[in-house]
Amino acid sequence: MYAEIIVDIASEQVDRVFTYAVPDTLNIVPGMRVRIPFGPREKEGYVIRLKEQADYDESKIKPILASLEDYPALLPELMELAWEIRERCHCPLCEALRLMLPAEMRGGRVKVKTEEYVQLNIPEERIDEAIEAQGRAKKRRLILTILSDGKPHPMDELRAMVHDVRDPLKFLEEKEMVRLFEQEALRAPYYGRVDAPPDPELTEEQQEALSELIPALHRPQKPFLLHGVTGSGKTEVYIRLVREALKAGKGAIILVPEIVLTPQMINWFRSRFGDAMAVLHSRLSPGERFDEWRRIRKGNARIVIGARSAVFAPVEKLGVVIVDEEHEQTYLSDRFPQYDAREIAISRGKREGAAVVLASATPSIYSYAMTRRGDYILIEMPHRVLDRPLPKIHMADMRAELRMGNHSMFSSVLLRKLEDCISQGHQAMLFINRRGYASSVCCRKCGETIKCSRCDVSLTYHSVDQTLRCHYCGEVRPMPRVCPSCESPYIKPMGIGTQKVEEELNKRFPGAGVIRMDMDTTAGKNAHFELVDRFRAGEAQILLGTQMIAKGLDFPQVTLVGAVMADLTLNFPDYRAPERTFQLLVQVAGRAGRGEQPGEVVIQTYQPEHYAIRSAATQDYRAFFNQEFDRRRSDLYPPFTMMARFLCEDKEMERARAVAEEIKARVISEFSGTPLFRRIFFIRADEAPITRIQDRARAQVLLKLLNHPDTDALLARFQEMAGEEYPARVVLEINPASLA
Ligand code: ADP
Ligand code: ZN
Ligand code: ZN
Repeated sequence: MYAEIIVDIASEQVDRVFTYAVPDTLNIVPGMRVRIPFGPREKEGYVIRLKEQADYDESKIKPILASLEDYPALLPELMELAWEIRERCHCPLCEALRLMLPAEMRGGRVKVKTEEYVQLNIPEERIDEAIEAQGRAKKRRLILTILSDGKPHPMDELRAMVHDVRDPLKFLEEKEMVRLFEQEALRAPYYGRVDAPPDPELTEEQQEALSELIPALHRPQKPFLLHGVTGSGKTEVYIRLVREALKAGKGAIILVPEIVLTPQMINWFRSRFGDAMAVLHSRLSPGERFDEWRRIRKGNARIVIGARSAVFAPVEKLGVVIVDEEHEQTYLSDRFPQYDAREIAISRGKREGAAVVLASATPSIYSYAMTRRGDYILIEMPHRVLDRPLPKIHMADMRAELRMGNHSMFSSVLLRKLEDCISQGHQAMLFINRRGYASSVCCRKCGETIKCSRCDVSLTYHSVDQTLRCHYCGEVRPMPRVCPSCESPYIKPMGIGTQKVEEELNKRFPGAGVIRMDMDTTAGKNAHFELVDRFRAGEAQILLGTQMIAKGLDFPQVTLVGAVMADLTLNFPDYRAPERTFQLLVQVAGRAGRGEQPGEVVIQTYQPEHYAIRSAATQDYRAFFNQEFDRRRSDLYPPFTMMARFLCEDKEMERARAVAEEIKARVISEFSGTPLFRRIFFIRADEAPITRIQDRARAQVLLKLLNHPDTDALLARFQEMAGEEYPARVVLEINPASLA
């Protein structure tokens, strides 16, 4: 017997199958990981296929040395998926296969942990007699009593209950009355508090959604887009759908943007499904992640909740994949091979006959466009559960505030509402969207942001040399002293810190209590869970935070939500800025009024007339979609085109830029005059918007490409070009989550 094997080396040169002999002593099946001789060394490899005959000189074929597990780590469907990813992402197969396994599994970095167990070794009817026979040996009597249920008990448990357990246990073991053995111990991660609520009666909208979704568990369908407003009870729909899948003997994967944003969802699932559920995310220790993965692979856990990479979870007989908050950019992988978890979900759904549900209160422009074309099936839940109203939204025009002499970060309406909320004993959430990168410059008097003269994007402030730069076309200007449109001196880069806001709140509302959630306060492993629990327990009346608190959280006591800097994301130098702003604001607003008390929202903005802000204020998704879709079409942005870029990184900006220029010149000289050149609308070499990350200067070649079957040939060629040797590091990105 021979095996076709992919060697676990990420390189184009060895990206093909190698043939090895299967020794009689080994039981090898496809999907197994094995150790093999490769050149002068030993390597790990994946068994792709078995075959009877070798296609070349048998005497030259080396044998497999060992299997790394006694089961195939890769499911057949996931191996097929890996081939598809190899095609789509233009990467070596082994890199695609690596996506399917916990990283710590490779190279034997995590060992299976075992624990010692004790079990009774005599038939049930003889237990009493055996206990009696111990006479006055109290410890032995106690041990036998504890074990009398016939189940294996961890040694630790016995140690805790019986003082100095070793000797009496040894005695019993020698008499063959008990049995000691080692068993795999699965490290269980922490999930926060779990209290099991009874099943609520479904609303009509939930029922209708389920009546469309459940049949898809049994008969393949197009992907669904579940557009349900915030508080419409989407989670309950997921739970019922998953339960139906389990009943039909099938498994489920639920993707969430980031586990830390969804502690409650995990609790809800956990309280309903208990140990049948596994959780995969980056904050688990390597050992925990490996153990969760094994629980899934062994079929002990049939439900998986996890972030992006959980889409590769080895769930057999997959019934449904749910992508919660499908509009989130975290579903786009930022590492090579760059995959989109939504696409993978759809591909798995098709191959494995599973239902795919993308869900959001603010669907991505792309997914919603797919429903318009009939490629996805749209299901709508336009109302909140129990006839709860959507929150009432107030706009605070911060330009007017300034005119009235209010120089603080809080508008008068937000302050007034905060006072009311606190004096009535309710809770409030204040949201500050702040990202760690260079900000746009805004006039606090007239609200103008300074834009590029040639592109429809805001210029970015560079504090080093006090300039404004356009990251799409490279325009550079000195930072003006006064506003170019109204000549006021109140012009400055936007952005305030959460810490400053916290101080201000403590000053204004002593006694209310403020909990701050941002990168600094949530660094610890369970810090989010703890902060969320503390706020829920009413320890503070104000929760202040960044993106982290914008989504997924459900606090019934919150009646007021304030978006302190609504515009900030609007001015990011990215064509998706309006989409992201709209999504964030609707999500933030959705945190208000989820309990008995109706909610109110204050959106503070310098650009109240912008369509993203206006449609967020009216919570009108469709109005926003229509306008944004038209803009994308007329400005040739995705989904009408593709964005691609070569990112070039080096210690020296000069070198990074030179490489970018070189690549651009090569693309032009190679393709100009060919039909493929017409697929390129735009090409420019430039510094990247974030010019330096971790002390690496970043330059880029940015391309806008026509969406066309031909374009794939272009991309494959680009991938080859990116793989060549340059004086700087080069990566090709296709429709990346961030163009920063
Ligand atoms: P969404 O994810 O759509 O924003 P959630 O799933 O968080 O909404 O549900 C909002 C709230 O409504 C939660 O507190 C949830 O427990 C509650 N809920 C969901 N379905 C029902 C129902 N059928 N009856 C009563 N309450 C419900
Ligand atoms: Zn420009
Ligand atoms: Zn101005």
